[in-house]
Amino acid sequence: MQMHLFTNQKLILFLLTLLLACSTPQQVIYSPTGEIRKAKNVILMIGDGMGLSQISAGIYTNKRPMNIERFRIIGLQKTHSKDNLITDSSASATAMARGVKADNATFGSTLEQKAPKSILEIAEESEYATGITVTSSITHATPAAFVTYQPYRTMHENIATDYLLLNIDYLVGGGKKYFDRRNNDERNLISEMQTKGYQVKTYLDGDMSDLAIDRSRRFAYFTADGEPITHNAGRDYFIYACEFGAQFLKNLRKEGFVFVIEGSQIDWGGHSNIGPMVIDETLEFDQAVGRMLDFAERDGETLVIVTADHETGGFSIVQEDTKGDLIIGFNTKTHTATAVPVFAYGPGAEIFAGFYDNTEIHDKILRAMQLR
Ligand SMILES: [Zn+2]
Repeated sequence: MQMHLFTNQKLILFLLTLLLACSTPQQVIYSPTGEIRKAKNVILMIGDGMGLSQISAGIYTNKRPMNIERFRIIGLQKTHSKDNLITDSSASATAMARGVKADNATFGSTLEQKAPKSILEIAEESEYATGITVTSSITHATPAAFVTYQPYRTMHENIATDYLLLNIDYLVGGGKKYFDRRNNDERNLISEMQTKGYQVKTYLDGDMSDLAIDRSRRFAYFTADGEPITHNAGRDYFIYACEFGAQFLKNLRKEGFVFVIEGSQIDWGGHSNIGPMVIDETLEFDQAVGRMLDFAERDGETLVIVTADHETGGFSIVQEDTKGDLIIGFNTKTHTATAVPVFAYGPGAEIFAGFYDNTEIHDKILRAMQLR
């Protein structure tokens, strides 16, 4: 009897241990020393002007769940700039790129003082591959914040020259005219890029997906002379360029890569108060999010962060019409101060949960990469 009881106790203990083992999450979020798993690659995706209501409208409009719904770790970031409660894109992108607050319309640099290095510059110095893919010109405020030390966002030609000071390995976006048809000087920056070893192609050479691209050399593709057209009007390079870019950067350098992606025109739909444009641009951005999540799932060493620089339009879903289409209300033709969501997946993702300032995106990325 004694023996029997002991066996039962042992069995209960065994079952308890098994139960505990099964209910313990496979991935320990924080080790006792607060260490996180190192992110070899980082993909930072910014939906310009993409607040929670824009995402909600995408979810209600889409026939299937959005890719953004695949994230399990979600945070919120405060977006105010140095001089204004309502940020613009250059100030908020500077916060994420360089970890400092900047005045609106600036990148944190003045004629006297340079802003701290951006995550792309730090990555480049640490031998990582680097890339930018956007649906605006590459000299536009958000991508520029990762590259330029010019004092103002309106200085497109000066911003273009700053691209020559870095060696970003993969560049896709508009703005060709700021490189090869300049008003302020006679420089042809496309020729200068080629001299530096870049393979440079443009929309005049055909669709990017039809080009023969040497995967061992830096690559730039100009998708428009100025700003690219809307997705609805036929812009179709973005999803391919994101997917190709992640693989291109992974192959290029063994250390890893940092890839900055922007869905730039969600914001422009907001400024124009055109609800269907906001939703269409958000859904296209979300398809790119899906491709990057698929890449990260396969790769296992890639941290994907999806966020916005600010909300645009005071966008709200106010009603549904008889056909089930959303009726959208706008409060403003400019940006708002509402906090914006942050979604994270992959090694280091857990540190993006919580409510924090936009400058912390910069700090958290470097921490996840163990570069600080
Ligand atoms: Zn804007």
